[in-house]
Amino acid sequence: MTALDLSRLITAAADTIADHAEELTALDQAIGDGDHGLNMKRGFEAVRAEADLFAAKPLPDALKAIGTKLVMTVGGASGPLFGTLFMTLGKEIPAGPDRASLTVAFGKAIEAVAARGKSQVGQKTMLDVLQPVHDALAEGKTAAEIADIADVAAKATVPMKALRGRASFLGDRSIGHMDAGARSTALLVRTVGQAIGEDA
Ligand code: ADP
Ligand code: MG
Repeated sequence: MTALDLSRLITAAADTIADHAEELTALDQAIGDGDHGLNMKRGFEAVRAEADLFAAKPLPDALKAIGTKLVMTVGGASGPLFGTLFMTLGKEIPAGPDRASLTVAFGKAIEAVAARGKSQVGQKTMLDVLQPVHDALAEGKTAAEIADIADVAAKATVPMKALRGRASFLGDRSIGHMDAGARSTALLVRTVGQAIGEDA
């Protein structure tokens, strides 16, 4: 990925989050505290503000720096979790990743998120999108197919009962709503897929 590509990718991700901030807030209002849209927007605008700085770095360093910035700016439970995702991806990915090395690095990053959140698949969190996306990457699906899989996975959190995060305080009342972090993850997956296309 060239510096220009990474800069464009950051812009596209920040645009996507800004365009969907109200939707993410509404989802978090239903079963959380209603700050997820604002949290994500604050974080991705902070990354956008330094896009050129990140894009000038080799990809692993850029991802680590973006992760650190997200930890510092997103806040909430999701900040350290998205931060961990990007930081671990940066730690594990080679400078010129192919599909196989991206898949391995992404798997490690998901494990790190699960460890940090003391969470696992099926608990109505971002992991319920991250894991199917990893599996689709491993199966050689196209970027468009992976984006659709991410959307389906986010929708599949609707009937789940939340077992982690603020939504878990609601118990059975968390059933019937989409998890906000699952939705933001699916949005980012589609944006990344569109930006890097079939290269990965
Ligand atoms: P907060 O819950 O502190 O208000 P946000 O609203 O920004 O933070 O983020 C909430 C999202 O974070 C949830 O929708 C869920 O996807 C994710 N999340 C929360 N706790 C965990 C956890 N322990 N493991 C994985 N994801 C989590
Ligand atoms: Mg919240």
